[in-house]
Amino acid sequence: MIDRATGSQRSRVVVVGAGWAGLGATYHLAQQGYEVTLLEAGAYPGGLVAGWKTPGGRSIEAGIHGFWYPYRNIFSLVNQLGLQPFTPWTRSSQYSPAGLEVESPIFQQEPWLPTPLGTFLYTRFYRLPLADRLSALPLLYAVIDFDNSDAAWRQYDPMTARELFKQFGVSMRLYKEAFEPMLLVGLFAPGEQCSAAAALGMLYYFILAHQPNFDVVWCRGTVGEQIFRPWVERIEQAGGRVLTQRRVTDLQLETVAGKPQATRVICGEEAFEADAVIFGVGVSGMQKIVGQSCLRQFPEFCQLLNLNAVDVLATRLWFDRPVPVPLPSNACFGFDATTGWTFFDLNALHDEWQPEPGSVIEADFYHANQLLPLSDEQIIAKVQRDLTRCIPDFGAAQVIDASVVRLSRAVTHFSPGSYASMLPAQTPIANVWMSGDWIINRHGSWSQEKAYVTGLEAANQVIHQLGIGHPATILPVEPDEPHIQLARSINRSVRGLFEGSWLHHGWQ
Ligand SMILES: Cc1cc2nc3c(=O)[nH]c(=O)nc-3n(C[C@H](O)[C@H](O)[C@H](O)COP(=O)(O)OP(=O)(O)OC[C@H]3O[C@@H](n4cnc5c(N)ncnc54)[C@H](O)[C@@H]3O)c2cc1C
Repeated sequence: MIDRATGSQRSRVVVVGAGWAGLGATYHLAQQGYEVTLLEAGAYPGGLVAGWKTPGGRSIEAGIHGFWYPYRNIFSLVNQLGLQPFTPWTRSSQYSPAGLEVESPIFQQEPWLPTPLGTFLYTRFYRLPLADRLSALPLLYAVIDFDNSDAAWRQYDPMTARELFKQFGVSMRLYKEAFEPMLLVGLFAPGEQCSAAAALGMLYYFILAHQPNFDVVWCRGTVGEQIFRPWVERIEQAGGRVLTQRRVTDLQLETVAGKPQATRVICGEEAFEADAVIFGVGVSGMQKIVGQSCLRQFPEFCQLLNLNAVDVLATRLWFDRPVPVPLPSNACFGFDATTGWTFFDLNALHDEWQPEPGSVIEADFYHANQLLPLSDEQIIAKVQRDLTRCIPDFGAAQVIDASVVRLSRAVTHFSPGSYASMLPAQTPIANVWMSGDWIINRHGSWSQEKAYVTGLEAANQVIHQLGIGHPATILPVEPDEPHIQLARSINRSVRGLFEGSWLHHGWQ
């Protein structure tokens, strides 16, 4: 083995995985004077958000990524880096095989109303009857009751989202045409395979907490090019090392004061000395590490093998002619029973494709298990067929180039009951911390923002333990609106009254 010890006096931190979580931790710790090495298995930093070029020089990425209004920490980072990567706020629409179903406004431009009135009043439903929409009202109780606490997760997580919506009287049509599509594109799984807790957390964060929360911006190119490339440069300027094509396989542990501590991170034939280690690896990657490393001696790590991940398919099609797409971002449902998909007009969103003579469309499919085995030609034909059902002019256009990226077991599956197997930042190893979009934390954010926040939280744990530098400032999620705070406090008091009574001895 090659010993990578540098002989330096600075505290050494090894971060594993260069997604939002790992990069967030690395950047902050490098700024605080730590000797940080970020080890990434892939060829590029960025994780699920990585971007690269086709052999023909066209930019592609592992699916397009939106940045929603409440992503305060990411917006703050981007400002701090002096970047301007984002489009203006964009409107979105929703299609089914029957045609256009829903159009959303830019909610922050409408008169502000107490939540959830704005969502109900300003969203334009073209087909869904009012009676079905009103059947969502009883669900508001669950939204109030689910306050993202550990107790709330334990209560709601074993239930499926489908059961939750059914129990609260949501009509079948509203479920099929609004909630299930939302789950498919937001949690990447159909309702019967989603945790009710995850569904409530996502629904509140992206839609219900405040009127503008559903407003979204996109990068004006790949996130890799617009954010990660300049961010990695800044990490390197701050003294951090970002090493790609380094797949971590094991840790070396020793016992200090009766507790296990990591001393080295093993990457095949290489070893990296560490005073602290942060994992920022997705569920599947973490399972592979646990299965082959000393981590399998800890039940907490072995539990991770109970978790699951979802397949995603990201495609980009270049057409020979412009096909007008009314709104740049579109979600679709009802095309395949267990798969949701989205399509984006990249001529409108990405600077690179604005001058292109033909349309450039990104179409991403979530929970795409049954699509991954198809050939590229079959996939491209399906994408064009589905696009044509939404916007008929795509039928006559020719596909002149296409990229198909299969992401097998790539995204966290928040399946019912999975909460019990997830880890918080703290691990049984005194100086090893977890981060990533799937770990348990209380910040209440989702996806990229959650991953980034957990990276900062892990960095803060290291700072607390090693006592060097200042903790990162983490912007909290915006507080609940006053009427929601009041409803939650009444709910807690009423629940407290029944605590210990016969009513409370049911199923938990
Ligand atoms: C198609 C698609 C669309 C999405 N859309 C959105 C969206 O619109 N908005 C949004 O907020 N989120 C979206 N997400 C989710 C978002 O991408 C993730 O929540 C976020 O990127 C997770 O970041 P992470 O740092 O936790 O993990 P990841 O991005 O998964 O990074 C983990 C990294 O660890 C590396 N790794 C794994 N094993 C090892 C090992 N043994 N050694 C070293 N490195 C290893 C991996 O290569 C990877 O780079 C989408 C995801 C997909 C796939």
